[in-house]
Amino acid sequence: MQELDYNGEMILEHLEQQPAFRLVGDVADEMGRECYVVGGYVRDIFLDRTSKDIDFVTVGSGIEVAEQVARRLGKHATIAVFRNFGTAQVKWHGLELEFVGARKESYTHDSRNPIVEDGTLDDDQRRRDFTINAMAACVNRDRFGDLLDPFDGIQDLRDKLIRTPLDPDITFSDDPLRMMRAVRFATQLGFEIFPETFAAIERNRERIGIISKERITDELMKIMKSAVPSRGFMLLDRCRLLEIIFPELAALKGVSQMNGRGHKDNFLHTMQVLDNVAQQSDNVWLRWAALLHDIAKPATKRYDDKLGWTFHNHNFIGEKMVPRIFKRLRLPMNEKMKYVAKLVGLHMRPIALVEEEVTDSAVRRMLFEAGDDIDDLMLLCAADITSKNREKVRRYRENYDLVRRKLVELEEKDRIRNFQPPVTGEEIMQTFDLQPCATVGKIKEAIKNAILDGKLANDHDEARNYMLAVAAEMGLIPVND
Ligand code: ATP
Ligand code: MG
Repeated sequence: MQELDYNGEMILEHLEQQPAFRLVGDVADEMGRECYVVGGYVRDIFLDRTSKDIDFVTVGSGIEVAEQVARRLGKHATIAVFRNFGTAQVKWHGLELEFVGARKESYTHDSRNPIVEDGTLDDDQRRRDFTINAMAACVNRDRFGDLLDPFDGIQDLRDKLIRTPLDPDITFSDDPLRMMRAVRFATQLGFEIFPETFAAIERNRERIGIISKERITDELMKIMKSAVPSRGFMLLDRCRLLEIIFPELAALKGVSQMNGRGHKDNFLHTMQVLDNVAQQSDNVWLRWAALLHDIAKPATKRYDDKLGWTFHNHNFIGEKMVPRIFKRLRLPMNEKMKYVAKLVGLHMRPIALVEEEVTDSAVRRMLFEAGDDIDDLMLLCAADITSKNREKVRRYRENYDLVRRKLVELEEKDRIRNFQPPVTGEEIMQTFDLQPCATVGKIKEAIKNAILDGKLANDHDEARNYMLAVAAEMGLIPVND
């Protein structure tokens, strides 16, 4: 493994590359203020993942320094001042420079919003969540690039550890969102949570109740977007936050036994499917579909003497659970949610095809229902093959590839993916002088089924002839035009 050799010189080197740091430092010097780059930005200099958002802390008013910086930067700079929060943001050539005065915080029991007073840099560093997020780098000229690291965050970076600067019980009880942040940083960065810090999360887990759903879900989204999202959910499970914030997922855990027969642990299986999908796709909603694909297994679990454990219809019940879960988590109730629900509903389809004979008709119907999401569905389905039985996996894979080939063939031939019936309802109504009614729907449905079953080409003239035949059987006669 590569030796992680973080040292203070990396800071100076980085700050020298961006003239804004010198400029801010000079302005602060002229005003007689101490000024530091702080928090995630300093951490990310070491990790080589800095963004365009830079946080500065000044001792004394941050707003005044920001105003002066904006003036100095000239006409390309804009400033937004948030007096209520004592912060100001200067935008300049794609950079977002955030200024705040150093503060000291004290918390009351029932809110994560602290009482805030002016403080020293030291006070400001003590209120931060983790040692790796509590480092500051000075930009004043006589100490330019000096690292102030009172909690040895640089060592925790080397050791890949998430650890609170103060007593973790106080840190987490003060602002329980930090528990979610600990898990999120561990997942994003591939770090461990320090044992005493972790134990405090477990002890304080019920405190998460004072945090809004939106903020919790923000962190869940960051976990979902990480390279190996299962890490986050395994940690949430181990500290027992999962059962509070996402009980449906926690309910997937465990294995029931009956007459010596068990089923697989659906939580561990889900974690594996999620990581498989994450390896193949950055589409976070496809990842959500993986997370939720078996979510109805606990609700549908039955034991049958002949069949063993069954989860009948868990895909359809799961599809129905998706809107409820999205609503509770304050995830968007829009086409993203519908996409996730649809994939959960369809996730068994390709495998069901595989278990029986792969007929053109069945593949066409799947293509018709999945539409443009067919590739995502196939990806999810491949990710879902996690059996420990190698022979089973080989068979599934073989059949899966067969379905894939058929999909390509049929798509070229039939243009089924975004199927529009070649005879419209309008045309049916005109031909037989009908008002909108069930009969029109029936004729349309018959045409669609005939095409999906391969009895009819996806072509207007053929479909029109078929319409005339179906209608004749129903006793309908075309009107003369
Ligand atoms: P990212 O931007 O990737 O979410 P970050 O560490 O920059 O990571 P921000 O939420 O942008 O996180 O916060 C910036 C800094 O503010 C953090 O590094 C940390 O020092 C401090 N901070 C943010 N939220 C909290 C909190 N809930 N409790 C204590 N300190 C916090
Ligand atoms: Mg940030």
